[in-house]
Amino acid sequence: MPSENDTRDLLCRLLQAFYGRNWVSGTGGGICALNDEGHMLLAPTGVHKELVQPDHFFTIDVRDGSVVRPPKDETLRPSECNSIFRAAIVERGAGSVMHSHALSSVLAADLAEDRDHIAIKDLEMLKGIRGVTNRDVHVLPVITNTPREFELTDQVEAALKDERYAAACAILVRDHGAYIWGADPMEVKRHAEVYHFLFEATVARARS
Ligand SMILES: [Zn+2]
Repeated sequence: MPSENDTRDLLCRLLQAFYGRNWVSGTGGGICALNDEGHMLLAPTGVHKELVQPDHFFTIDVRDGSVVRPPKDETLRPSECNSIFRAAIVERGAGSVMHSHALSSVLAADLAEDRDHIAIKDLEMLKGIRGVTNRDVHVLPVITNTPREFELTDQVEAALKDERYAAACAILVRDHGAYIWGADPMEVKRHAEVYHFLFEATVARARS
């Protein structure tokens, strides 16, 4: 297990990389990872994600979402993704989760129309998702947006428990974005890169 300082540094580098891809622009989106105590390091809300520093993370108790250690900067507030990230950790054993506001994730969710899911298939990049092959039809849940981010938690928990989505490492939120998880921050990096490619490819094919 990497040191907590290394994990904090890596989360900042990933936020910068995700910002460069327009996945966490306009202060939207977020990231978390477990530290070596099993607590969740959670980025602050309402800040420019490419400017988050290693000492800006909140340390959160995964069981109840309470703040174990706040950052020194008292103006910072924990991300509204708190309860959603914890649901992915508890239900799926995730060690890290990212939240994207990418346009491709919004357009991919539109493809669900009146269904509660989309199906992705016939793409080599599917192999980049843990346990998935390029012959699989990969089904992702699509949930409905709410006025406040934490109000998505019930829908997220239902999707995480739904057997139809057992292979999914992502949830799409209509008109909003996506949550993408993995065993650790580097798997989240891979899954985020792969899923955004899959979103872009599926949207482009639907238009052609
Ligand atoms: Zn959001």
